[in-house]
Parts: sequence; structure tokens; C-alpha cells
Amino acid sequence: MKYISTRGQAPAQSFEQVLLTGLAPDGGLYVPETLPQFSKDEIAQMAALDYPALAQRIITPFVDGAIPDADLKAIIDKSYASFAHKAIAPLRMLGANEWVLELYCGPTLAFKDFALQLLGNLLDYVLTRKQQKVVILGATSGDTGSAALEGCRHSEHVDIFILHPYQRVSEVQRRQMTTVPGSNVHNIAVRGNFDDCQRIVKAAFADQSFLPDGRQLVAVNSINWARIMAQIVYYFYASVQLGGPHRPVSFSVPTGNFGDIYAGYLAMQMGLPVKQLIIATNSNDILHRFMSRNEYALTELKHTLSPSMDIMVSSNFERYLFDLFGRDGKALADFMQNSTSGAHSVDASRWEQARQVFASASVNDEVTCQVIRQVFEETEFLIDPHTAVGVKAARECNADASVPMITLATAHPVKFADAVTRAGLESPQLPEHMRDLFEREERYAVLDNALGAVTDYVKTHL
Ligand SMILES: *Cc1c(COP(=O)(O)O)cnc(C)c1O
Repeated sequence: MKYISTRGQAPAQSFEQVLLTGLAPDGGLYVPETLPQFSKDEIAQMAALDYPALAQRIITPFVDGAIPDADLKAIIDKSYASFAHKAIAPLRMLGANEWVLELYCGPTLAFKDFALQLLGNLLDYVLTRKQQKVVILGATSGDTGSAALEGCRHSEHVDIFILHPYQRVSEVQRRQMTTVPGSNVHNIAVRGNFDDCQRIVKAAFADQSFLPDGRQLVAVNSINWARIMAQIVYYFYASVQLGGPHRPVSFSVPTGNFGDIYAGYLAMQMGLPVKQLIIATNSNDILHRFMSRNEYALTELKHTLSPSMDIMVSSNFERYLFDLFGRDGKALADFMQNSTSGAHSVDASRWEQARQVFASASVNDEVTCQVIRQVFEETEFLIDPHTAVGVKAARECNADASVPMITLATAHPVKFADAVTRAGLESPQLPEHMRDLFEREERYAVLDNALGAVTDYVKTHL
């Protein structure tokens, strides 16, 4: 299977090549040239598989022989062995036909572990085989950072640098990153917001001349295809638990960089019957404005109680737009170029096509807290603010009460004590393996919001 760039101006690459890179040289993102298809019978058979076996079933065609089956199995098994629940992604019922898929049982308590445990093990495997060392550079709105550090730090073949927006992540999120030991681990707080961090990372990828000879940057953000690939799995997993493929289900997905929901869209394209796919955003609602008004316009980034979704420039949306533009890389490149200079819309027919696939809602902080409280009163189950945005959007957009509606629960509430307290509830205890988080020593640098400051820091800390 070959991977092509959404901007259409870069050569096609193999799985191993896209694993070891970030953006394509033309500024686009890599997507598979074609998608594997699963028939109804094949999907029905998935109900008998446990999570790692299902993951192997979904992932194998994407890896396309780059890793022998037995080795891939070992990598996948190891990646999900650290999860605290035997189901890996348990489903919990909130109400009639209303479910949450608990995706926070991994080591850092957010769904990012699903992709980053796997990515870390895949990288270590191919880098060991190639006898190569790389530099991982990533930006985080809070959860990617700790998941990437946890997934990659054990590899002797990587130095890892994670940028987070200074004072814009929760305290638990920051400590989960800055207390990670290891001389190959580097945390940088940038005096700016997440979009600034993401912009610096993209610029560093575009010009890597600051690195010593023989080193290259590898992305751990969801611009890395392998992350998207890993996330497709749990859409199939959840569906077959609830009667798929014979019974369609709907998903509501708390969305920031559009990686998680794009994986759901791909699952649909691969044959999974999905009734509704709901984009749930906080007050940073560019995607909701696009879906409801055909307006793709950047506005000022707001800080909310769901900081992992405080993102305006939603990288993976480009991967979806590539399909919406009939896979015309040139047309997409023009649209992306123009979209930075002001308000933009797409042709009415394209917009209608997007609305066939996605519903959307935007949920502000006040309502987020109300929903946390309401769900707790209804079920004695505590959800985090990102999940609350998802549950609210699911309730608002639900078009067919007979179809199971599954909200992806993207993080454990302990990571967002502020929101829980604001909802008038008691914040939960840290799990056993994190009990001493507030006593551990923190290490991080605070740098100016400038590319040069970051590249100099990386150079001197290799
Ligand atoms: C990253 C994150 C999101 C957003 O996921 P995207 O793939 O960026 O859309 C939502 N909730 C939580 C808790 C996250 O960490």
C-alpha cells in the first residue's frame, strides 16, 4: 500500500517511510492511496476477537508487509498490555441506547495512549532494524505530550522534545510530562498557545537543517499516519459489541485536531455501518461553523475547561477535505492557502456532501459543567470535560433514538480537576501508579514563541 500527499506534489511513500516522517515535502499530509475494505461477514467475525487481535486485523493491510505478522502481533500485544482494563476499551451505558466508550485506561489516562503506545513500539522496532537514531518533535495541547513520552521514552533510538503552551495545560497534564525521567526526554513550555506550538513544529519539519548530519525529525502528532491507523480499531470494536455490522451505530467525538473523528470517518469508508458521526467541539468551533454555516474562518483561540480541544487550525481536517475535493491536491492546496487569509467556504454541493457525513455541535464551558453534573446525578459516573462536550453534542444531534449512540470518553476526569470542581463535584483520586505525581521533581524549559528559540534548544540538547 502506498501513501500519497494531500497536496499532490510529493512522491508516494511506503508505510515505513510515512512512519518515520511528519508532513509531506509539499506541506500536505499522507493518506493511503486506497483503503482496505471489510465485508459485512468479515466485520461480523470481528465480534469474536479480543482488542489486540482485532487491532491486528485492521492494521495489517496498512502495514502492508513492512513488518512480519508475528512481529506485528508482538508489537500490538505489548502496546495494549499496559492498559488497566481487560477490555482495553470498555463500553459503559449512560441511558437507553446511550453509551460511552472509555478510552482512558492506558498509562496516561487519555485516548492518546491507544495510538502512542503503538507508535512508540513501531518506531523502536523499525529504528532498531535500521540502526538509526531520530529526533521526535511534537506539540501538545495537553494529552499528546505525556502519551508520546510514555510511548517513546524507552527507545534508545529517539530523543524526544515536546512543546506545550506555557500555563495553558492542566496541572496534572503538565506534571505527567515534566516528571518523566530520562536523559532523552525534553519538555519545552512555549510562551504562546497550542496553535503557536503546532506552527513551530510544522516549520521545524519543513526546514531540518538545524539538525546534525544523519538525524531527522519524526512526528508524534496526529499528522503521523500511524496514529490515525491505530484509532480506526476502536470504532470497529465498539460497533461489533453493540450488534454491528447488522445494526448501525452512531458516534459523537470530542474534536480538536480532527484526528480521532477522521479515524471514525475512515472506519465508515472501510465498510463499518455508521449512522451519524458527530463533531463535538468546545467554544473553539471552527469545524462546527463550517458544518452549520459553510464558514471556514479562523478566529481568536479561546481557553476553555477542555484544553485538549483548544485548537483552531485542525490539522487532520485537511485529510478529510482531500476526499471532499475529489482527491484533487491542487484544488485543496489553493483552498488551504486561501483559508489562512480570511473567511472561506466551499461549493454548495461539496458542503452538502460533508453534511451527509458529519453532524456537529459546539458546547461552552457553562454547559460542559452542567453536563458533568447531570450525568453524575443520572448515573453516579464522573465524566471529564471533553467527554461532557461529546455527550452534550450526542444528545443535541441525535437523529434516531433507536440507534445506539456512542460518545468517545477521551480522558479520565482526574486530569481535569478544575472542571469537576466547577461542576460542584469532588475531584477523584489519582490512580495508584500516579499517587505521588505532586511530589515528583519537574523538569522543563520555558522558551519564547519563536522557531529559532526551539531549534537552538533542540540542537544544544541532543
Ligand atoms: C486530543 C484530545 C481530544 C481531541 O482529539 P483530536 O484527535 O485532536 O480531535 C479530545 N479529548 C481529549 C481528552 C484529548 O486529549
